[in-house]
Amino acid sequence: MSSKPILYLIIPCYNEEAILTQASSYFFEKIHSLIGQDIIDNNSRILFVDDGSSDQTWDIIHFLSVKHEHCMGISLSHNSGQQNALLAGLMEAKNHCDITITIDCDGQDDIQAVDEMISAFLAGNDIVYGVRNSRKSDHIFKRTTAQLFYKLLHFLGVETVSNHSDYRLLSNQVLCELSNYKEVNLYLRGMIPLLGFQHTCVYYDRKIRMNGTSHYPLGKMISLALDGITSFSSKPIRMISSFGILVAGFSFLGVLWSIIGTFQGHTVPGWASTTCFICFLSGVQIISLGIIGEYIGKIYLETKHRPRYIIYKRTKK
Ligand code: UDP
Ligand code: MG
Repeated sequence: MSSKPILYLIIPCYNEEAILTQASSYFFEKIHSLIGQDIIDNNSRILFVDDGSSDQTWDIIHFLSVKHEHCMGISLSHNSGQQNALLAGLMEAKNHCDITITIDCDGQDDIQAVDEMISAFLAGNDIVYGVRNSRKSDHIFKRTTAQLFYKLLHFLGVETVSNHSDYRLLSNQVLCELSNYKEVNLYLRGMIPLLGFQHTCVYYDRKIRMNGTSHYPLGKMISLALDGITSFSSKPIRMISSFGILVAGFSFLGVLWSIIGTFQGHTVPGWASTTCFICFLSGVQIISLGIIGEYIGKIYLETKHRPRYIIYKRTKK
């Protein structure tokens, strides 16, 4: 690495035509100021990743890349999800930069934290996590579910940084190691801590979205949460086994109880208790099958070794 690092700012965009032009000025300003202050190299770039948008997002990226020297973009062949879009950007940048910083394109992550992230890198850290000071800018539902999710991950033994989304700095060495992780079910917030390396956190206030709406409706949030849990912890399966042993123990006692009852002549069948048992056990069975199914589904996807994204277009740079 030369004295100044080459930074690639990686920004995933999915149907962001409403804010991209406005938000991009915010990124350009930052990159120009960092180059101007001799903090980063002039070969640094803003790399937009169009995640298969169906609106004008790609046209805007293309226009920006023609207009601005430090801008480039790639477009994925279809909507592959934010995690895959981030990985596509990281792998695209890997051979050209010393550091990457991934950031959302809606202005929610405070761009001013970039300075502190670069200082932390220059101080010897290979990974710098952007961590939110508070979740005040989220509505109550997102805030509560996010907190419960982090608690659950912690309980299941998954190492994550609480209140950190995907705003983070990675050094080139980390990117090279990350490229060896071939899993299809991506959850970068769980994968990056597994890499180790010297790391630290930088704190910032997360703002509200500049415009437009979140692309993380409840369904997508649940799916990301399930990936986070089942890709890193086999504890749920072990919990099913333990629970199965417990239930089997109770069932055995129930059988003993009914045999003793029969011998003692108390043979009047209790409809309510029978129904309760049946309902409870069928519920447990279905949940257990669902969890096991989640893991089998993951194995199925992993064994296919399909590409995680396909780059369809690149801006000419
Ligand atoms: N995003 C993406 N692909 C998707 C969904 C989202 O690339 O399928 C991008 C989106 O354009 C934004 C970032 O991921 O830059 C975070 O998405 P969003 O702001 O919708 O999520 P939230 O902040 O509500 O969690
Ligand atoms: Mg957002």
